[in-house]
Amino acid sequence: MDKLDCIVIGAGPAGLSATLTLGRARRKVHIVDNGTNRNRVTQESHGFLTRDGIKPQQLKDIAMEQLKPYPSVSISKETVTEVYKDDQKDLFTVHTSNNKSYLAEKILLATGIQEEFSISQIKQYYGKSLFSCPYCDGWEHRDQPLAVIAENEAHITHLTKLVFNWSKDLIVFSNGHQLSNKLRNEFESKNIKVYTARIKNLHGENGNLESIELESGENIFRSGGFVVPSFYSPNKFAEQLNCQFDENGEIITDGDGRTTTNGVYIAGETEKAGPSSLIIAAAHGNKAAASINLDLTLERF
Ligand SMILES: Cc1cc2nc3c(=O)[nH]c(=O)nc-3n(C[C@H](O)[C@H](O)[C@H](O)COP(=O)(O)OP(=O)(O)OC[C@H]3O[C@@H](n4cnc5c(N)ncnc54)[C@H](O)[C@@H]3O)c2cc1C
Repeated sequence: MDKLDCIVIGAGPAGLSATLTLGRARRKVHIVDNGTNRNRVTQESHGFLTRDGIKPQQLKDIAMEQLKPYPSVSISKETVTEVYKDDQKDLFTVHTSNNKSYLAEKILLATGIQEEFSISQIKQYYGKSLFSCPYCDGWEHRDQPLAVIAENEAHITHLTKLVFNWSKDLIVFSNGHQLSNKLRNEFESKNIKVYTARIKNLHGENGNLESIELESGENIFRSGGFVVPSFYSPNKFAEQLNCQFDENGEIITDGDGRTTTNGVYIAGETEKAGPSSLIIAAAHGNKAAASINLDLTLERF
């Protein structure tokens, strides 16, 4: 098995940006991806400088195409199933679902996060008419009749105030949560209606929301809106590699992508275990790659 300088797990903007930087630094790097990038459910990506409105797959394709001139870079589409470190040799072994194994001096975890919803029907509309990030999709839904679906006071306050910037035609659905009088009054003064009854069903076609049906019997017209998902990490590679976590569940780093386990680096949404954006993830990848390259340089010079 040929030894790599670095194996990158995850070809989202974080992993792809890191791989580009490492390829340009003449490092032998392999990037593995299984096509489960978080934004695969949406039609267009917004706010990435020079690529506003691009399809998520097109952004990925361009990034992969631009890795081709670098001969020390290779790519495979497969799922990483296991990673472990040989502490004596200071080397990482990565196994995949295709029964392949890779040996590398450094490993970059850029596998991102995934979301789940307490109201399961949201999934059918997520990325088409329901979204979680107003900066990503607020503009396209400006001035439309929107829903804010959130289930605790802090989330309701934050998301409603934010989305109000894009549409004044807002209705809050708290799915059983009772709002404080202070917040209710604040929303009332802005003509924002609040329904606290539990959500029974969502109605619409092809991912386009048409109405929200409540257990109280009402069926409220809305053409889209914003929701607050829960986020989780899709794998346990950082735990398996003994990386330390802080009290908020975030992997501890030095701020430049180095974890507490020598040779293990992280980038993108893996870093905060929470949502960010394409351009921030790409910047994290660039920063982590510079750390990897610097460490390899100093170790070998
Ligand atoms: C509906 C929606 C719309 C969005 N719209 C925008 C937008 O308009 N603008 C914007 O800036 N951001 C947007 N985002 C956010 C954006 O998608 C993320 O911020 C960004 O993708 C994070 O990049 P990342 O590289 O950290 O993770 P990801 O892009 O999620 O990439 C992680 C990669 O790791 C791979 N992976 C995971 N586990 C394994 C494994 N075991 N083996 C192999 N590969 C693995 C996955 O295949 C995936 O490609 C949106 C998100 C969603 C859900």
